[in-house]
Amino acid sequence: MTEIPKTHPRYLSLTMRERLVEGVKLGVTAMQGLIAHGRGEAFDYILGEKTRDFAIKAERAAVAMMLLARHPVISVNGNVAVLVPEDIARLSKAVGARVEVNVFHYTPERVERIKKYLEQFDVEVLAACDAVLEGLESARRIVDSRGILIADVVLVPLEDGDRCEILKKHGKKVIAIDLNPLSRTSRMADVTIVDNIVRAIPRMVEMADEMKNWGMKRLEEIVAEYDNSEVLAEAVREIKRYLEKVADEL
Ligand code: ATP
Ligand code: MG
Repeated sequence: MTEIPKTHPRYLSLTMRERLVEGVKLGVTAMQGLIAHGRGEAFDYILGEKTRDFAIKAERAAVAMMLLARHPVISVNGNVAVLVPEDIARLSKAVGARVEVNVFHYTPERVERIKKYLEQFDVEVLAACDAVLEGLESARRIVDSRGILIADVVLVPLEDGDRCEILKKHGKKVIAIDLNPLSRTSRMADVTIVDNIVRAIPRMVEMADEMKNWGMKRLEEIVAEYDNSEVLAEAVREIKRYLEKVADEL
């Protein structure tokens, strides 16, 4: 791995790229994942690369939803696995969610590599690929009968819009993490976290540690009051505001 000096102004961003390139070399991350990450980076840039209020609101609703769920599942692909493996382990424990490997660019070997990779970080991983989500053409339809198939709430970071739609048709609540507030995924999900996954998941772990002691009623209120369209609109407005500010300073 290329050593990035800690003092480099783009240290965090460059480290993420290095991790993903390493992920490709290990056969964990798909080449297409690099392109998807680039799109995410661009949106992060025009959001000022920080967690905004609308993201915190969505993260709180997402945690409440997962704590209230009977069978919450965190869906992991090759990007998520290399970017935040420790945090996935912590979040799954904090909210009591199963972790399942689910990828767009499917081969049994790749699924197995992602599983093995995550297990090094103490994640218990479902990857039986023994069930199918009807109505979906892509390999994303292949799921685990103990996981996504029977889940009531699914956290799908860096998702494609199609599967999001099918998960909803199967009656599941969908939480997306997607830096692009305009994507189909963002608009299809019940809760959309417009934030970088490397900031979102650690913050959700902190929230879960506190919120797991709250009563059900309080958690239900948070979910009931949450309005995803409003959150997405705020994200788009924030981009506009931020760009105006930058323009004024030029
Ligand atoms: P649609 O949702 O409109 O169908 P898509 O899913 O085909 O679009 P992709 O580029 O395949 O688009 O999806 C990847 C999404 O993940 C992008 O919208 C990108 O903004 C987002 N993304 C990539 N890296 C990160 C990251 N580190 N944190 C949060 N979101 C990210
Ligand atoms: Mg998408």
